[in-house]
Amino acid sequence: MTSNRMKALCKSEPREGLWMVRAPVPEIGPDDVLIRINKTGICGTDIHIWNWDDWASRTVPVPLITGHEFAGEIVEIGRNVTDLEIGQRCSGEGHLIGKHSRQSRAGKFHLDPETRGIGVNEQGAFAEYLCLPAFNVVPLPDEIDDEIGAILDPLGNAVHTALSFDLIGEDVLITGAGPIGIMAAAVARHVGARNVVITDINQARLDLATRVADVVPVNVAREDLKGIEKRLGMKEGFDVGLEMSGSQVALDQMVENLVMGGRIALLGIPPGKSPVDWSRIVFKAITIKGVYGREIFETWYKMIAMLQNGLDVRNVITHRFDVDDFQAGFAAMKSGEAGKVVLNWTS
Ligand code: ZN
Repeated sequence: MTSNRMKALCKSEPREGLWMVRAPVPEIGPDDVLIRINKTGICGTDIHIWNWDDWASRTVPVPLITGHEFAGEIVEIGRNVTDLEIGQRCSGEGHLIGKHSRQSRAGKFHLDPETRGIGVNEQGAFAEYLCLPAFNVVPLPDEIDDEIGAILDPLGNAVHTALSFDLIGEDVLITGAGPIGIMAAAVARHVGARNVVITDINQARLDLATRVADVVPVNVAREDLKGIEKRLGMKEGFDVGLEMSGSQVALDQMVENLVMGGRIALLGIPPGKSPVDWSRIVFKAITIKGVYGREIFETWYKMIAMLQNGLDVRNVITHRFDVDDFQAGFAAMKSGEAGKVVLNWTS
């Protein structure tokens, strides 16, 4: 069914770049499936790996097939796998969890400290075929096509962050209009927030945000949030903040503009240690929650259900390339003006 070699995008050498290689098609174990990849998304994580920054050089073994955002079709099934079929369209959770930690044994799989990531620690999805534990497979219903399937991983980050707190009727501030911030805005709208304001200093990203979701874009390089609150008829500040930028300035603005007793979910990663005015957080009685990955598999359930009942994030995909043009895809990502970039593996 499969020739025994495949195209793959590999971190072949410990320096900037990724390389298209011919690699052996993975052999699956009894509890795995083999997935033929149709579409993949390029993630910020992949850019770190491309650039070979400090984090990547400490984390990623060389050589490694990269990539973790994918959609495809099951083409082979391990002998212990009874609940999946050949031909099933799917995406999947890229975090491979352990079974030993307290959190994992309590069913809180997303909090397992032994987790390993495909495309980061283990062979990834930027390839014609991916071996994945059957446990990690998420079947796709017909109404979710492969390019949306390929961005469910980052949509999951957005959904996990946005659903951290009750948003019904609330005023929500999102700092950082990257793809995940923009998708979180769409989710906040979908679940019934009153006002959703998204900030950035990159106007192209703010413009993209308005093409994806019904949000109020604010360029904080030029506009003041207090003025926007007044215009929206808000009296006491935002109820919930979703921090997606990793920027110290943005977090400061968020704390400044939150109501007493406000809640913040943090997904953005600040570079290194970052000074915080804790006294303001204490005096405003603010709750802060760190968010990592997605809840396995509750977030997947929720996002697929929302996509089925009208959540639409397709416009966040701004670029589509054949995988042979992967260099152009990475260049678009690195320009800072792209939303999601999707690579097509079937020609
Ligand atoms: Zn990702």
